[in-house]
Amino acid sequence: MTSIKTTCPYCGVGCGVDATVNDDKLIAVSGDNSHPANEGRLCVKGMALPQTQSAEQRVLYPSVSGQRVSWPEAIQSAAMGLRETLEQYGPDSVAMYLSGQLLTEDYYVANKLMKGFIGSANVDTNSRLCMSSAVSGHVRAFGEDVMPCDYEDLAHAELFVFVGSNAAWTHPVIYQRISDVVKKRGARVVVIDPRATATCDIADLHLPISPGSDTALFTGLLNYIQGNGYVDHQYVDQHTQGAERAFATASLSITEVAAATGLSSQHIEDFYQLFCQTERVITLYSQGVNQAVDGTDKCNSIINCHLATGRIGNPGAGPFSLTGQPNAMGGREVGGMANTLAAHINIDAHGTDLVSRFWRTPNVITAPGAKAVEMFDKVASGEIRAIWIMATNPVVSLPDSGHIAAALQQCPLVIVSDVAHTDTSQFADILLPARAWGEKDGTVTNSERRISRQRALVQAPGEARADWRIVSAVASELGYGAAFNYAGVHEVFSEHAALSGFENHGTRLFDISEKAGLSKARYDSLEPFQWPMATRPFKDGAYSTPDQKARFIAIDVQPQSTGPQLILNTGRIRDQWHTMTRTGLASSLFQHQGHPFLEMTAADASARDLAMGDLARVTSQAGVSYLPVYINDRSAGGQVFVPMHWNLQFASSGSVNRLVTAITDPVSGQPALKKTRVSIEKVPVELWLRVNTTTDLPPSILDRDTINFWCRVPTQCGQSYDLAVSRDIFSQIEQCVSDLHGTEQTRSFCDSVSGERRSHGVVGDAIVWSIHTSTVLSSNPTNDLPDTSEWRDLSSLQRSAEAMSPRVCTCYEVSELSIVQAIQAGADSPEKLGERLRCGTNCGSCVPELNRLIRDQSDSIQSKVVGA
Ligand code: SF4
Repeated sequence: MTSIKTTCPYCGVGCGVDATVNDDKLIAVSGDNSHPANEGRLCVKGMALPQTQSAEQRVLYPSVSGQRVSWPEAIQSAAMGLRETLEQYGPDSVAMYLSGQLLTEDYYVANKLMKGFIGSANVDTNSRLCMSSAVSGHVRAFGEDVMPCDYEDLAHAELFVFVGSNAAWTHPVIYQRISDVVKKRGARVVVIDPRATATCDIADLHLPISPGSDTALFTGLLNYIQGNGYVDHQYVDQHTQGAERAFATASLSITEVAAATGLSSQHIEDFYQLFCQTERVITLYSQGVNQAVDGTDKCNSIINCHLATGRIGNPGAGPFSLTGQPNAMGGREVGGMANTLAAHINIDAHGTDLVSRFWRTPNVITAPGAKAVEMFDKVASGEIRAIWIMATNPVVSLPDSGHIAAALQQCPLVIVSDVAHTDTSQFADILLPARAWGEKDGTVTNSERRISRQRALVQAPGEARADWRIVSAVASELGYGAAFNYAGVHEVFSEHAALSGFENHGTRLFDISEKAGLSKARYDSLEPFQWPMATRPFKDGAYSTPDQKARFIAIDVQPQSTGPQLILNTGRIRDQWHTMTRTGLASSLFQHQGHPFLEMTAADASARDLAMGDLARVTSQAGVSYLPVYINDRSAGGQVFVPMHWNLQFASSGSVNRLVTAITDPVSGQPALKKTRVSIEKVPVELWLRVNTTTDLPPSILDRDTINFWCRVPTQCGQSYDLAVSRDIFSQIEQCVSDLHGTEQTRSFCDSVSGERRSHGVVGDAIVWSIHTSTVLSSNPTNDLPDTSEWRDLSSLQRSAEAMSPRVCTCYEVSELSIVQAIQAGADSPEKLGERLRCGTNCGSCVPELNRLIRDQSDSIQSKVVGA
């Protein structure tokens, strides 16, 4: 057994992981007690990392036009394709689309090749979808992309304001740290979100704001700060510019804010009072703020309030952008976005000259390139004729995803380097196998600017290579070998560190040059460290602008568009990550939520004759999707929610982004993924089939016109499918599944009362498939193939209520029903539930739901008493 310290590859919290490896296999993980980001914690996704170390779905060998080739042939083909495109159409005809999943060293080399040697600024990243509005907000206010807070600040804050962030599910370890502060010190919490999310579990005040109206709320707060004597004039005078104009523009009264946000005047006043009267306030914001047509203005409207009160640069106070991806920050540091150069150096004459001299190349870009949405528009129009996509799945994650697929379909050269086969990789002319987490070395930077090592734990399968090596090999083939001749990944890091300090003279806070020149041994043993390395950002009120003063941004609040249609919001669920290329391999991570869903209120559902589990057709200007209905009142009427994870590998309707129109923030270029107008109607379903199999069902079964919807969940034995079908094709499906498995014996049972059927196919001693029918969609994805010892019981068609109940605690597979029964028996706290059922005692991700169930039961007891 070997213990290796590494970093979790999921969210921007950047938790340290202690990995136990034996015989080239990842055996177990636990939170690294010594890592400052998580101090020993891991959430449910981190805990499931060993389950994701599978060769399933992996790209194992290079291929060109679908044919396996050797690495030298693949590199030559990629270089030749790029060279021919460049010679005929020039540098702007090529592009790279990168990912916050890449390690900093991968990012650095890719950016250097494109922006320094090929001479194209068309380098963008899926971080554009995640936090580019936060980047633009930082640059406008501070002169540099610097997040001002540290995790250490969480221990000192007295008020936490979450805006557009369901941190309980998206940044669980940060949430748990805050939850502890709330318990220990009684810190207050405000949640500003159209949905009542799990984060509201610790909220003193939830403001269910109308979608997209955050700018009005915070501009109104700035007006309140000014009008009620809360401005820190000394700070504003000494360390900022532009306050006068920002105050003059922020003229919204509380009544006007109420009209714009849909909140009550009293709730707005309560929030404003709380903010103004609390010295140590941290405002945490995430995709609900960034993914908007005015995302940058939203960020600056928050930052303005912190500047006006001087609550920035001090312990326990500041605007805190929660980064979505594990290494979005590393990508920002190397300049992996189309509007940045490298090492926080701006794209201007000075920056171009500086980087040219450092990289010793005359080809450094002089102007920004195409940002993500524009980049794929240019692919569609033929302006970009060669695109290299690394470690990301734009066919699922970009808005108007049908348009992205069509663009790639007709692009003359698509190179994809990735870990797994995805919805995007099917468009690859050249497909290159990349190393996955646990197989490669490098660094990542988390939300608090802390750089940590990711370390290789096991051998990569097949012929997978590190991304920086693949890019360096193509660079050499293009004739730039001297600049890409790295002896190891430590040399890439060393060069990146050196560039950060090159002629810096204190002008850029991103300066890690004291790490330049470190040996392989020192790189291998590198401890997590934060930049700036000597002090916290903006401690002395000195910003990265020419006059070292922060900038207020005057925000002109735009009226929100209205219409008769429902507003579609998209977001993440607790146990999945991005487009499921990794979490989709862990069957346990489907126990909490096994299929995609359309969340809507009971009233909105009823108005469309929809009930829980019914199938709905969702239509927008961009496309159509089919989704099962999930009814609750987390959002106000008129709003619906769909998770962003599902894709064509897991469900027939695939990505929710086929519904989202490609509208972007004009400053940041970030797509507005949170507010799409949709209409919804019922699709009658005669029969739901639950098909459990030892093998994947082929398109010949799934892609029938008679199947309105399907989704897949990996199980211990194979796969579990839910299919919405017409009654008359049941026998055909059963026969196809039976043939697929070479079935030797089929047993069927039918309930004469309900009409439900159950059948099983046997090969040798094993059941290899099972099908049962129902008129309703099961909410529990855990049904697996029974073994033959259970054969006798299979004659019963009564699926137990326990088996039908969704799993709330993934770690110990505790169902909602068991939890409710325990609450009814007196377990009225998460601690007592933990003692009885163990739920909530491992990673803690389910604790907000345990509290919700306790509250629900308490409400139901109260109403029974009232009713009695
Ligand atoms: Fe990974 Fe969870 Fe930590 Fe995020 S909070 S880094 S997903 S363990």
